Amino acid sequence: MNGVIPKIQKVVVIDGVGGYDVIKYEDYPVPSISGKDLLIKNKYTGVNYIESYFRKGLYPCEKPYILGREAAGTIVAKGKDVTNFEIGDKVAYISNSTFAQYTKFPSEGTVMKLSKETNDEELKLYAAGLLQALTALSFTNEAYHVRKGDYILLFAAAGGVGLILNQLLRMKGAHAIAVASTDEKLEIAKEYGAEYLINSSKEDILKKVLEITNGEGVDASFDSVGKDTFEITLAALKRKGVFVSFGNASGLIPPFSINRLSPKNITLVRPQLYGYIADLKEWKSYTDEFVGLINSKKLNIKIYKTYPLKDYKSAAVDIESRKTIGKLVLEVPQ
Ligand code: NDP
Repeated sequence: MNGVIPKIQKVVVIDGVGGYDVIKYEDYPVPSISGKDLLIKNKYTGVNYIESYFRKGLYPCEKPYILGREAAGTIVAKGKDVTNFEIGDKVAYISNSTFAQYTKFPSEGTVMKLSKETNDEELKLYAAGLLQALTALSFTNEAYHVRKGDYILLFAAAGGVGLILNQLLRMKGAHAIAVASTDEKLEIAKEYGAEYLINSSKEDILKKVLEITNGEGVDASFDSVGKDTFEITLAALKRKGVFVSFGNASGLIPPFSINRLSPKNITLVRPQLYGYIADLKEWKSYTDEFVGLINSKKLNIKIYKTYPLKDYKSAAVDIESRKTIGKLVLEVPQ
């Protein structure tokens, strides 16, 4: 159906820790499969900030390491024990090593079957939205269960995850206080649901949060910036507030005394998406919710730009230089 599977494919790989020069576009063996494995031919794969953490050594990984965390494409081969998928099925999935033409993935893992009619534009949408939407859905449900009327501080509010969080906060009836580094980003965050806007390049974030909340502080802060905003979030939370620390865009938060949480009885959570989709019931529940929101057009995934897989390096430069708004996607050569 999809032609002969080659022995060699193109992948984006890092061969060391460092700057953009450790990113390589190379020939690599197509993985062999057995048992319950699927071989997926990727059509689109989403770019996430986490790739920069692997490259810079914030998160360890064995080199050479094929980057990528999510993709959408078609099953081109399956192991003899696979009963729940057929060759030709369109799928979207969360996995390592998706910046590749082919990825091996277990049929009982975090992979969702799409309808046979799914077209390329829809495949792109799933590759763009899956990981970040599940992050936003699970974090606003479980890391901090957002309630109607809550005041929520949201950093990187015009990024990939940020624009989805804005929409979910609005759906839940919360007041999103969006922080971003340019007015252009803030205008988009507003379109996507933010109620209050703070430009971190020219405004005092804490002062503005306290003005907005009449000196009380926010119920929760969704802080993916890490090192640079740790003190701001701690000060901006109200008594019994929840600190959701979920990223390190500015670097890792240095060690601190746990006693710093006591003056306001702060709860600190440091979630990762994988901990909320580890069992297949959770995976199904969140992916069903995601598909429902996409089909009903309640959730909009804003794609900043689609790059050819070979140009991942440009995508990395763009996202890390803070100029992107929404999601970056790579198109995989077929
Ligand atoms: P974004 O599109 O949000 O890009 C990162 C943004 O972080 C930038 O646009 C920038 O926005 C902001 N930022 C603030 N300070 C810095 C800095 N010093 N250097 C670079 N950027 C900075 O990325 P994603 O949507 O892919 O991810 C958002 C965050 O969520 C990341 O930190 C990521 O690691 C985290 N994440 C965590 C998950 C988990 O499971 N824990 C899952 C998915 C994402 P601005 O210029 O407006 O400040």
